[in-house]
Amino acid sequence: MKALLKISEDQNLVFRILDGAFKRGRIAGAYLFYGPEGSGKKFAALQFAKMLICKNAGCDNCVDCARIESLSHPDLRMISVGTEKKQSEKEKSSIGVDEIRELQRNVFFKSFESGFKVCIIDQCEKMTENAANSFLKILEDPPANTVFILISSSVQALPLTVVSRCQSARFFKSIKKNNKPEALGKEFSVFRSDGFESVLRQMKEKVEGKNEAIELIDFLLLFYREALLVKEQDFKNMDFPEYKDDLMSFFQGIKKERIIEFIDRIFQTRRMLYKNANQKLVLDALFMRLF
Ligand SMILES: [Zn+2]
Repeated sequence: MKALLKISEDQNLVFRILDGAFKRGRIAGAYLFYGPEGSGKKFAALQFAKMLICKNAGCDNCVDCARIESLSHPDLRMISVGTEKKQSEKEKSSIGVDEIRELQRNVFFKSFESGFKVCIIDQCEKMTENAANSFLKILEDPPANTVFILISSSVQALPLTVVSRCQSARFFKSIKKNNKPEALGKEFSVFRSDGFESVLRQMKEKVEGKNEAIELIDFLLLFYREALLVKEQDFKNMDFPEYKDDLMSFFQGIKKERIIEFIDRIFQTRRMLYKNANQKLVLDALFMRLF
């Protein structure tokens, strides 16, 4: 647990998802951690690997955890660009089919320590088309007790077939430490005058095209993340603490568990959008069950 708690400071939402899945015994076969450079994706992936592999659920204080930290644990594989011995420049800047095939052979062996095996693919958008196809085949018939964690800072470059098979977790750069994006601040400030629900509905009506739909989804995630922090009275981790009171009164009668359910639902909608579902229908369905 201790290992996972380390990521909670900046990535509270990611922490909730991973922790919730672990506690309910519902670990997905593949996760996609995406978000801007420097938002702690690789770090979080390693903490999650500790949680899965260590016998004390990621104590951060045992041989397993230490070997994961130093990338030398036999049940952990990390693939990234430029780590293997490669010939040409082109090969050095991509993840090729050979690496995925080797990974495939590797995951079909039982884990050394009888727990989970974890494979992290860093900069997974650098997979060549063949590599991605070959990886897809692994995901279609996933080996037992193996968790894949894909990491990407440009998720648009990934094949949708791969994205749609992963449970995604969006990482945000800590807004507090940098500057808040102005646009987001504006969205939050109109809430105060018009009320949350009406503003969110107006935003939904304005959506045109898939990218805008996904932007709205990401905004909803940010919004519900703030709501969750308010419910947990974890005000110091909020990105928009000035809206604490407004959020508190808006979510007054709503339990924390419902907010987590909403977040799950928003993630599901995101996956459906990636699978090219009819965006108006899925957004309408989401909004019907959101308030
Ligand atoms: Zn440990």
